[in-house]
Amino acid sequence: MKNNERSPSEAHRITVAADGTLCVPDNPVIPFIEGDGIGPDIWAAARRVLDASVGSSYEGRRRVEWMKVLAGEKAHRETGEPLPHKTLQAIKDHVVAIKGPLTTPVGEGIRSVNVALRQRLDLYACVRPIRYIKGVPSPMRRPERVDMVVFRENTEDVYAGIEWEAESAEAEAVIAFMRDRMGVEVAFGSAIGIKPMSRPATRRLVARAIQYALDHGLASVTLVHKGNIMKYTEGAFMKWGYEVAREMFAGHVLVESDGGLGPDGKAPPGKLVIKDRIADMMFQQVLLRPEEYHVIATPNLNGDYISDALAAQVGGLGMAPGANIGDDCAVFEATHGTAPKYAGKDKASPVSLILSGVMLLEHLGWTEASAAIEKAVRKSISDGLVTHDLARRMRGARELKCSEFAEAVIERLNR
Ligand code: NAD
Repeated sequence: MKNNERSPSEAHRITVAADGTLCVPDNPVIPFIEGDGIGPDIWAAARRVLDASVGSSYEGRRRVEWMKVLAGEKAHRETGEPLPHKTLQAIKDHVVAIKGPLTTPVGEGIRSVNVALRQRLDLYACVRPIRYIKGVPSPMRRPERVDMVVFRENTEDVYAGIEWEAESAEAEAVIAFMRDRMGVEVAFGSAIGIKPMSRPATRRLVARAIQYALDHGLASVTLVHKGNIMKYTEGAFMKWGYEVAREMFAGHVLVESDGGLGPDGKAPPGKLVIKDRIADMMFQQVLLRPEEYHVIATPNLNGDYISDALAAQVGGLGMAPGANIGDDCAVFEATHGTAPKYAGKDKASPVSLILSGVMLLEHLGWTEASAAIEKAVRKSISDGLVTHDLARRMRGARELKCSEFAEAVIERLNR
């Protein structure tokens, strides 16, 4: 146990007040899942940066008490389970956690540890801010025009994972039911997948996206859906999204189709614009007019595609942070995988995990520490101090090891 890894009983827990706000002690216990593959390297780097920024921003008054919990390969080796109950309980008890990437053991009856973690903790909003960092190579001519936060629904749609193999007894039974009871013909022998989407799950996701936009003074929330084709699922997402905007945020929002926007397409001061776009059109919009979009709220599969496409516009997944947030707890995570070829080589980029830590500190309300890290990461990159993945694509850059990059960021904190 390292010197700031005390047992939970010696330190303090974060709690959630009745109105949903967090009560954060000065030395909260926060569980971390180191992760597999490059996880230990990037977590060691991220942790040093987080500790250094909290230490210097609050002159030692605040400190995170990190608590190690297991998931993925390591958990499987030590406990026989990829996602032990103890880990889920620790995250529930401590309200906030952070994780590195995880390998899903093949053939273990669990589709993905990440999906299981989101479902079992009801972390219904996958939140991905996508912002350009100056100096990062990008396929776009003006990548700095991309500045968006994607809220992707995390519990329904394809993540519900309801599907049956072609020619299986289950698929044939569903096909027979559809023919006999619903009057719908589907060829026998087809594979079947079910896409459930509900009003409560849509409403809570969209409400969270709107609240985020209001809290951060952003100009718009766009509901991205494929309702022109899937009227009762994707179309209902749009309908329920507008419904929650009008009911819960009346007086704060303006629905684009109701009129009232200025000739520049902007809302009167103090009003948030709520609009919707069909998913395929949205992929054009984020390339051609990205500055018109600020927060995106969208069902699971659309969100999967659009968040990776946006991440590519600003330089790739290796840079993008993420969080999975529910009403009771939140897990912050690097959005990339375990990159096994770099495992244990101190070579991978810790940027995604560091920026996920920035989101975690913002979530705690420790904004001085989070802002200092974000600024220092930007400064390190614009100074040309980067890890291998960027160094090989950036002219004049100096390649640093993962741990050296953490040092470079720490040197630039509070400068
Ligand atoms: P991956 O993201 O691990 O790697 C793809 C490539 O991206 C790597 O080969 C590497 O070149 C690059 N890369 C990714 N992260 C990097 C970093 N931080 N620094 C430098 N380069 C980086 O995707 P994959 O190869 O498809 O998956 C490998 C494993 O990761 C699989 O077991 C998969 O299940 C798992 N995975 C986990 C998560 C998660 O935990 N959130 C997400 C995706 C994949």
